Amino acid sequence: MQMSVEMAVIDPLTGLYNRRYLESHLAGRANHDGASPRPTALMILDLDHFKSINDRFGHAAGDTVLKQFAHRIRLNIRGVDLAARVGGEEFVIVLPETSGMEAQMIAQRLVRVIGQEAFVIGDGRELQVTVSIGVTEARPGEAAEEVLQRADAALYRAKGDGRNRSEVAS
Ligand code: C2E
Ligand code: C2E
Repeated sequence: MQMSVEMAVIDPLTGLYNRRYLESHLAGRANHDGASPRPTALMILDLDHFKSINDRFGHAAGDTVLKQFAHRIRLNIRGVDLAARVGGEEFVIVLPETSGMEAQMIAQRLVRVIGQEAFVIGDGRELQVTVSIGVTEARPGEAAEEVLQRADAALYRAKGDGRNRSEVAS
């Protein structure tokens, strides 16, 4: 990829796709609905208490956590799954040919791989980090905005139910 093109679609800190790329990908997906008999699933991930990590340990530590988080996520999803950083500590994963039920299993795997091993934030200091996830299955022809809103509502429930967990949209 050309450097300038890459910079336009990649989040420089984590190496994941950026919000702009995610939005164009989702807009394109709507046009291809019906081409595959299998659904697409989407999840929103939000690091728990990230602000307090920044406040207590500094922004360099916060950045280290974000980088390691992205790396762990990448290692635990398939190459065809699209992972993007869409805000400070907020991420979206699009899973082609995946049902909501399968995506919930994958989200539970991700909650586990983030929470089970401490993050190293420099000077050998270790930090326990957890993530909350909202999962949903896209409906054929549905606007990206609606899919994201439903996943976001599920994420809100995961946060409200104590964090460090994933919830599927009803
Ligand atoms: P499983 O782990 O229980 O996953 C069940 C189904 O969920 C998979 O069926 C697939 O449709 C979906 N799935 C699971 N993880 C992912 C993911 O990271 N991304 C996406 N897009 N979909 C995912 P499938 O493909 O028939 O696989 C059946 C079983 O084979 C899996 O059951 C798992 O036990 C094993 N398997 C397949 N690929 C891998 C792999 O790369 N690593 C490991 N450790 N096991 C795998
Ligand atoms: P990949 O497809 O890019 O998957 C990357 C990682 O995502 C896997 O690393 C695993 O941690 C997670 N993952 C993906 N799909 C599944 C799944 O269905 N179930 C579970 N539990 N985890 C999943 P891992 O296991 O080290 O595999 C590395 C690579 O080896 C995979 O990259 C894939 O290319 C290949 N692979 C491993 N197991 C299978 C399999 O059962 N079937 C196929 N077709 N490929 C496999």
